Amino acid sequence: MYPAQFEYHKAGTVKEAVDLLAKYKDDAKLLAGGHSLLPAMKLRLAQPKHLIDIGKVAALAGIKEDGGTLVIGAMTTHYAIESSALLKSKCPLLPEVAGHIGDPMVRNMGTIGGSLAHADPAADWPAAAVALSAEMVAEGPKGKRTIKADDFFKGLLTTALAENEILTEIRVPAAVPNVKSAYAKFPHPASRFAVVGVAAVVTVDGGKISKASIGITGAGTKASRAKGVEAAITGKSADAASIQAAAEKAAEGVDVQADLQGSVEYKQHLLRVFAKRAMEAAAAKK
Ligand SMILES: Cc1cc2nc3c(=O)[nH]c(=O)nc-3n(C[C@H](O)[C@H](O)[C@H](O)COP(=O)(O)OP(=O)(O)OC[C@H]3O[C@@H](n4cnc5c(N)ncnc54)[C@H](O)[C@@H]3O)c2cc1C
Repeated sequence: MYPAQFEYHKAGTVKEAVDLLAKYKDDAKLLAGGHSLLPAMKLRLAQPKHLIDIGKVAALAGIKEDGGTLVIGAMTTHYAIESSALLKSKCPLLPEVAGHIGDPMVRNMGTIGGSLAHADPAADWPAAAVALSAEMVAEGPKGKRTIKADDFFKGLLTTALAENEILTEIRVPAAVPNVKSAYAKFPHPASRFAVVGVAAVVTVDGGKISKASIGITGAGTKASRAKGVEAAITGKSADAASIQAAAEKAAEGVDVQADLQGSVEYKQHLLRVFAKRAMEAAAAKK
């Protein structure tokens, strides 16, 4: 299938991209890695008249540390994150999650910003963003603003980004020694998207979990926090029985949706299983 005709624009800076978005409004779409947008255009699910390529905006790519915060440019590819030595030592959840995404081609072309902005309900990054309490930096005609991950995902393919805004950076706290994390995913056998994915970030003090942050994806129309698990495991021992009991709450308060992948009951079951696996794997890390 060929996409409908469009005009191609190449932005050199964030400001140029913001100006082009302001000029073409609803008729424009940003192009990042193209691995969600181009398939949608080929299926004619999206028919933008203007494509604004942000692939050459140098300020949007790269990973750096700023004080105790790790700053990931929106155009950073999944592979760059998977292979980042800085992230492996300071935020190992991000390289771990990146390694679960699609196949090598998808990881080399797709970007973290494109994935978060697209907000596919089965994407992996949103679970990690919620679990890490990430902050998204958006830039538009009125300047920059920061959006917390908990407020970013609004619904199916919908985020808090305005149509004239670009997601420029993702900011996450650099890890401290007793914070452990893991991602557990049930991948769709064909696409590798998450039927269900659970990201767990736990703080372990003297064998007890003093803080837990659990992000889930795949189960509903948007990524969310497994608040029932967080409440149930906080203050408990990091042992198998406590984790099992807390994981039973994984579907509590989550708007689980049936889809081609499974019924509500099946996905609730997967949430419980993968919440347990993610917490067990996190707690077992050195
Ligand atoms: C075969 C296949 C398998 C895949 N498997 C997985 C998987 O297992 N897990 C997973 O999570 N994903 C998977 N994906 C999706 C992949 O990760 C995409 O790369 C990603 O979802 C979108 O990133 P992108 O850079 O390609 O964005 P694009 O496709 O270029 O853009 C996606 C959308 O986001 C908007 N956008 C892009 N960048 C910005 C920005 N900086 N600010 C505001 N809006 C922006 C675009 O306008 C567009 O609407 C798969 C894709 C394919 C084709």
